Amino acid sequence: MNKLDAQRQKEIQQAEELLFAGPQALGFAKGLFQGHFVADWVMPYPRIQEAEQGELDHTLAELRKFLNGDLDPAEIDRQANIPRSVIDGLGRIGVLGMTAPKEYGGHGFSQMANCKVLEEIGRRCASTSVFVNAHHSIGIRALLLFGTHEQNQKWLPKLVTGEQLGAFALTEREAGSDAANVQMQARPSEDGSHFILNGEKRYITNAAIAHELTVMARTPMPGSDKTAVTAFLVTPDMPGFEMLEARMPKTGIKGTATGRFALRDVKVPKENILGPIGKGLKVALTVLDFGRTTFGACCTGAAKTCLELAVTHANTRRQFNKTLGEFELVRKKIARIAADAYAMEAMTTVTASFIDRGLEDYMLETAMLKVFTTERLWECINDVFQIYGGSAYFTDLPLERMLRDARINQIGEGANEVLTSFIALVGMRGPGMEFKEIYDTMMKPSRDGMSKAWTAGKNRLSATVRVPDVPVQSEQLRAHARQLGRLIRHFNFAVNRALITYREPILDMQLVQERIANAAMDLFASTCVLSRIDGEIQFAARNGNAASPDHSAADLFLRQSFRRIRGFLAGLTDNDDKAVIAAAKSCLTSGTTEMAS
Ligand SMILES: Cc1cc2nc3c(=O)[nH]c(=O)nc-3n(C[C@H](O)[C@H](O)[C@H](O)COP(=O)(O)OP(=O)(O)OC[C@H]3O[C@@H](n4cnc5c(N)ncnc54)[C@H](O)[C@@H]3O)c2cc1C
Repeated sequence: MNKLDAQRQKEIQQAEELLFAGPQALGFAKGLFQGHFVADWVMPYPRIQEAEQGELDHTLAELRKFLNGDLDPAEIDRQANIPRSVIDGLGRIGVLGMTAPKEYGGHGFSQMANCKVLEEIGRRCASTSVFVNAHHSIGIRALLLFGTHEQNQKWLPKLVTGEQLGAFALTEREAGSDAANVQMQARPSEDGSHFILNGEKRYITNAAIAHELTVMARTPMPGSDKTAVTAFLVTPDMPGFEMLEARMPKTGIKGTATGRFALRDVKVPKENILGPIGKGLKVALTVLDFGRTTFGACCTGAAKTCLELAVTHANTRRQFNKTLGEFELVRKKIARIAADAYAMEAMTTVTASFIDRGLEDYMLETAMLKVFTTERLWECINDVFQIYGGSAYFTDLPLERMLRDARINQIGEGANEVLTSFIALVGMRGPGMEFKEIYDTMMKPSRDGMSKAWTAGKNRLSATVRVPDVPVQSEQLRAHARQLGRLIRHFNFAVNRALITYREPILDMQLVQERIANAAMDLFASTCVLSRIDGEIQFAARNGNAASPDHSAADLFLRQSFRRIRGFLAGLTDNDDKAVIAAAKSCLTSGTTEMAS
């Protein structure tokens, strides 16, 4: 085995241990890759329970009043600082401990309700929503999920009110997208009472203002010569904690304090270990599942602002003796923003409901939500920017700030390219294992193998002939539902064909992976939209509203999404991949030569 193969085997083994240990229920996205429509995950459209809705309405009213009166996003951007009065206000309303249990002083909100709160903040100020996300959605989330009762009692009460702030520190120079490559060391002391941490972290939101940081560091694994990542609770008052740069100057979300710090022989008591030793990456991945859901909510809020801004300007600005809204190329942009905002909200709500229902494995859906909503928001901002023309370019309007702020979304909490590849590879693992079963048995027939291969073959075959049922309740949605079912079958067929054609090399074929992941994301998005329209029609009917709500934007989304899916799947066989790779290789090689000369 050469060095590259050995590295690949190691990576596969690590990923298998991390992602696939334990029972594997068939979730919605994994179901898509097998040609199934796992209806009970996505239909009926989830609703916040009535009792909680009352509390949420009250909180939202209070929050809106506070944000409208006390939050100045332009000033936050100019000063590159979120004032303490804003943090205190958010703390008073309960935003900084929204999902924490009431026994620790939190609001005890569901993730769906929490998403509504973050959507409201995301509508106004990305710095503030990223600050809240860093503190709550990923900062104290690790404690909420993995803390012992003692740890929670000790740490949470001050964190959930905002008296103290939290941060989540994974990224290092060598561990960016390659998060498993954490180099920060945590060596156990001889008496076993504490760990000694050494290393540096960078790009950490809230690092300089946090009182508690969940820090990922590499520990030796007892009884073996291996090391693994473990999560530690670190406080900045521990001797050896050095803030290298409190606020790294940056392009957008300037109000957030993004910092760099070093730990030099910092003694962290063993009581501060969060979750099991060596399971830090599992802690990180689970925490990020939550963070990506609220990410979706913040993007939804920002997309709604784009729509409001676009409509206002298109209705008032006149050129050629017409309002801009009378031109079809402007209408096209507005329609697309409306369609996307509807879909982003639907996807966020459905994904958050997986968490609230305690479903088992939604890492694919949260990754899809993150990639989809961040890419869509970027398009929305680009469109509204264009509608405003030259005026968008000046700093008296919020658009240039929104543009700068939104750019981090495609990079942070997992770069979209990494997540796109992840979605395709994790999704294809199920059908890939079935094909492997069949292939291995053909190469080496055995009685046991024959029966497994038979089952696998039957599964693969039945998925390619069966159109899954998409059970909508509203008559007027049946045609869309049938079309979605047919596209899922088509998708499954395309996945099977890609696996059979490319076999193991598909692990490196990111252009193929991207089309498969994009098709899967649009299938998920369409499903959420269909489910939401269905829910709204049924709700209106139950409440005696004869007229069905206006779903023109949602209908447009479905049409465009279905068209995109067909395009992605067609691209699997009709593409310029070889030319793309050749052109890139040529640039990469000549670039190296030029630099050397
Ligand atoms: C403002 C800000 C706030 C942040 N807050 C936090 C925080 O609170 N906590 C924390 O731990 N981290 C935080 N981060 C770090 C963030 O999560 C990382 O920047 C991100 O994971 C990407 O890592 P990197 O910057 O090292 O990019 P790299 O890993 O160097 O990647 C650069 C680019 O290469 C491409 N790429 C990389 N790998 C692949 C691949 N496998 N396939 C295809 N393309 C690939 C992608 O396009 C990617 O954008 C923050 C970053 C920023 C900018």
